Amino acid sequence: MSSCKLTSLDGASITLERQEIHDSFAGEAVFPDSSGYDEARSLWNSMADRRPGAIIRVASEQDVVNGVQLASRHGLLLSVRSGGHNIAGKALCDGGLALDLRALNSVDVDSKQRHARVGPGATLGDVDSATQVHGLVVPTGINSTTGIAGLTLGGGFGWTTRKYGLTVDNLRSVRIVTADGRVRIADRSEDPDLFWAVRGGGGNFGIVTEFEFALHPLGPNVFAGMIVHPLSAAATVVPQYEAAVAAASDDLTCWTVLRKAPPLPFLPAEWHGKEVLVLAMCFIGNPDDGAAAVEPFQSIGTPVAESVGPMPFVDWQQAFDPLLTPGARNYWKTHDVRTFSREAVRIIQQAVETLPSDECEVFFGHVGGQMTRVDPVATPWPNREAHFAVNVHTRWRKPSDDAGCVEWARKLHKALSPHAMGSFYVNFIPDGDEGLVAQAYGPNFDRLRELKERHDPRNIFRANINIA
Ligand SMILES: Cc1cc2nc3c(=O)[nH]c(=O)nc-3n(C[C@H](O)[C@H](O)[C@H](O)COP(=O)(O)OP(=O)(O)OC[C@H]3O[C@@H](n4cnc5c(N)ncnc54)[C@H](O)[C@@H]3O)c2cc1C
Repeated sequence: MSSCKLTSLDGASITLERQEIHDSFAGEAVFPDSSGYDEARSLWNSMADRRPGAIIRVASEQDVVNGVQLASRHGLLLSVRSGGHNIAGKALCDGGLALDLRALNSVDVDSKQRHARVGPGATLGDVDSATQVHGLVVPTGINSTTGIAGLTLGGGFGWTTRKYGLTVDNLRSVRIVTADGRVRIADRSEDPDLFWAVRGGGGNFGIVTEFEFALHPLGPNVFAGMIVHPLSAAATVVPQYEAAVAAASDDLTCWTVLRKAPPLPFLPAEWHGKEVLVLAMCFIGNPDDGAAAVEPFQSIGTPVAESVGPMPFVDWQQAFDPLLTPGARNYWKTHDVRTFSREAVRIIQQAVETLPSDECEVFFGHVGGQMTRVDPVATPWPNREAHFAVNVHTRWRKPSDDAGCVEWARKLHKALSPHAMGSFYVNFIPDGDEGLVAQAYGPNFDRLRELKERHDPRNIFRANINIA
């Protein structure tokens, strides 16, 4: 059997016998000359065009242990892929050994004890469908195809954050393979420092092979939907929206999305493709109270269409999937925001009037509630005071549009900086902005750096938003 070339931690080329790689894993090894290589290296964001020297379709926790030991023994560059959604494409490395954990996607629910053990390859959809059978939920994000692993390791927020906290606030324990190739269980009493670090510190501290989450009651029906306004009404709608969310209970979360209207079935055809401001809301209390809870949002301005009502939570969790399919080119820039000044709204409206492609959008992810009641040093997630995570999401198809789209996002992001809080969500950091990691973690960065030094002194786990 032939050899293969892999990149080392210091960028040199190392030749290994393929037999050594095959012998190390129960799962399949895919090399650059294998027929399935391009499929195996495709990520959600097609801007990330990385070519690992070998991709292992991991079959068990033991494969993860063997992967870390192999990488450690030879000093190989190593990357870890779960859902493959990371905007910076950190799930793969160029030239190194890539561990693909997608097959480890089990979700075991203990409805009596109200906890779930989840494999790192599970998507949010896998988690929702297994937990909603019992009328329970793990608080996660808003798109069913996102990986639970990367989302959790960065923090995780969505429709249930205001009532139940961030995803990391609901993490009870992890099984994790650390840089020494050992499997550890970390929780509040066992390896508490390591447990603190993984609740927001990304993949810097090891490879998680199982997450244990607390479960909460929810649904299966929620009261959810969208109200659509013309973008031109932003100056009057946004202040009223802010007043309505400030008065809302933790059961109600309402995001704002500014973009060209997709052909939503309830939206009159003349609005398809026009610039709109969409209030997207989800009330997770008793659905019978839903109509009263969303009424303040229905009273805002003069909408052009609306569709709000009871529906299964699992359906609402997939409502935005058609706009977030894999394979497009994407670039994000993000800010934490407390409140939208009149000038900030004007800047955003003007930018959305000149979108560089039809699929771009700006969203205000509404957070707060239970998230704010946790000590800012209890996990690495530093800014629990933000009311909105604002994401400038540029999305397009042709590589020739790369420069224009990236420039549009950067320009809008820079113009908004004086109106933002200075912190931002680590999971929304794009490729090239890794230098902002200290700013993202703010006061928690020094502790993360100390723990990184202790748990991974060689920085084996560096294919991530790296704490070097
Ligand atoms: C369409 C879309 C919607 C999103 N919506 C939300 C949202 O509503 N809320 C929210 O909070 N975030 C959201 N995100 C951001 C999301 O949290 C991040 O993209 C996250 O990195 C996705 O995790 P993943 O497992 O899919 O990613 P991957 O790309 O597989 O991994 C992300 C990072 O984590 C590391 N990693 C992955 N698995 C492991 C593991 N088992 N052990 C150690 N390290 C690991 C990887 O090496 C990589 O650095 C969204 C992203 C997308 C693309």
